[in-house]
Amino acid sequence: MRFDNRFLRDLPEDSNSENYPRQVFQSISSRVKPKVFANPELIAATEDVAALLDLSSAEFQAPEFSRIFSGSHLLPGMEPHATCYGGHQFGHWAGQLGDGRAINLGEVKNNRNEYWTLQLKGAGPTPYSRTADGFAVLRSSVREFLCSEAMFCLGVPTTRALSLVLTGEQVRRDMFYDGNPQMEPGAVVCRVAPSFTRFGHFEILSARQDINLLKQFTDTTIRHHFVHLLTDINGEINQEIYLRFFIEVCKTTAVMIAHWMRVGFVHGVMNTDNMSILGLTIDYGPYGWLENVDPNWTPNTTDAQGKRYRFANQPQVALWNLAQLANALYPLIPDVDLLQSALDEYRKTYTDLSKQYQSQKIGFTKHMNDRDELLSRLPKLLQESEADMTIFYRLLANYSMEELSSENNTEKISTIADAFYQPLNDQQKQEWLDWLTEYGQLLQADYVIQGIDDKNRKKIMNAINPKYVLRNYMAQVAIDQATQGDCSEIHRLMELLKKPYDEQPEFQQYFAKRPDWAKHKAGCSMLSCSS
Ligand code: AMP
Ligand code: MG
Repeated sequence: MRFDNRFLRDLPEDSNSENYPRQVFQSISSRVKPKVFANPELIAATEDVAALLDLSSAEFQAPEFSRIFSGSHLLPGMEPHATCYGGHQFGHWAGQLGDGRAINLGEVKNNRNEYWTLQLKGAGPTPYSRTADGFAVLRSSVREFLCSEAMFCLGVPTTRALSLVLTGEQVRRDMFYDGNPQMEPGAVVCRVAPSFTRFGHFEILSARQDINLLKQFTDTTIRHHFVHLLTDINGEINQEIYLRFFIEVCKTTAVMIAHWMRVGFVHGVMNTDNMSILGLTIDYGPYGWLENVDPNWTPNTTDAQGKRYRFANQPQVALWNLAQLANALYPLIPDVDLLQSALDEYRKTYTDLSKQYQSQKIGFTKHMNDRDELLSRLPKLLQESEADMTIFYRLLANYSMEELSSENNTEKISTIADAFYQPLNDQQKQEWLDWLTEYGQLLQADYVIQGIDDKNRKKIMNAINPKYVLRNYMAQVAIDQATQGDCSEIHRLMELLKKPYDEQPEFQQYFAKRPDWAKHKAGCSMLSCSS
């Protein structure tokens, strides 16, 4: 691996090299040594991510691999450091947060001249650890490792995960915040992304009125990651470029959220410190997947009261977060109308894309206004009849036009019957029959005009509706087994989730509704931030 640590080189770093919790001013990062673990052990690694770093999967077997990717052994070129950011948590300004348990090892410049930052999560304390320990437990590390790769394979913008290593040491955690802490196995995930910069990096500099560094940081971010916005690479960056930068952040964030809503992902902690400037899904904590469609569902027990981060609120929260970023960028773009126009781009991008996705999910090739009414009735129907989101859309693809236009109502319902957690009552049956009839009529027009047939339609739908997602209980089963020393389920899920849209009949048992035992079990439907 070839390192070229641009972030460190181009931005001021903390002059204090001592590692103790503190406020860090006038710099954006602090050098820090990861902890040396005596016996780190590799549990899983991702071949495709290794390839981004010019590493072959043969390296996974080397004893140094687990030492390197737990932070215990530093390679030449690695310059470990933690960065300084702030954030709005649950709607309130929280001041300095920072990489409390994330340590960047540096930026790999690969043989295609792409830059990939390596970041260890759980490799020990940093100046930003506040009162916490800087470590991560196995359960949350398994969840982050599996989900970031699952999301990538679903086509959702996300940070990646190279490796999952057991540290060999125990970590004390109060999982339910009920005064009963337990010792749990510690682990480190090596995350990989072009950048881990968050909205909160801009917010902390702006909140502290450190406008010089805000400008330097924004300029550097643009030069490293938004170089396509520059007309003159060496020229001064002006207000117009800052605005184009912010518009792009608004648009990529909209794309990310439209994908989350498409696949049924609930992030759980959409604080501004967990929002990536590149529009990547970042910081997998108490996230979850919708099973029975419920717009009000949040997997995060810490958010159970206000449900700020519930499924259906995510598009609105992203906009709120972007408005905080707009505030932070105001010193560089001192024009409220311009900032507002960028936020309008978020709305427009999100609305257009989500309409397109929602149409394609039910098999229409493009969005047309005459489908709005049919589409708008669907969420309520799905919610009231307790339909499993993933299963419903895959079963809907199985209808033929003949079936949809047939008079045989019993048979018509049976195609989607397996998607429901409860048997449908008569009224629900009737509502579904009405919806399906109308659906068939609109499809008929599409078939005639666009020249589509049942087979084509199924292909279109199955390309956007995953058959397999990382259901909350699936991750929990893999975690329980790994805690007992058996990591085979983690490997099986990695295989399964590589091709989420493919039929994969050998994995058919995972195309099933959430089992009853998982409905109220910790880790399956309720997660705390303790990780
Ligand atoms: P999160 O809610 O996981 O996004 O974390 C919010 C803030 O708390 C970030 O600054 C994290 O780095 C920090 N944090 C979370 N867990 C720990 C930990 N175990 N040790 C140190 N800092 C932590
Ligand atoms: Mg975070």
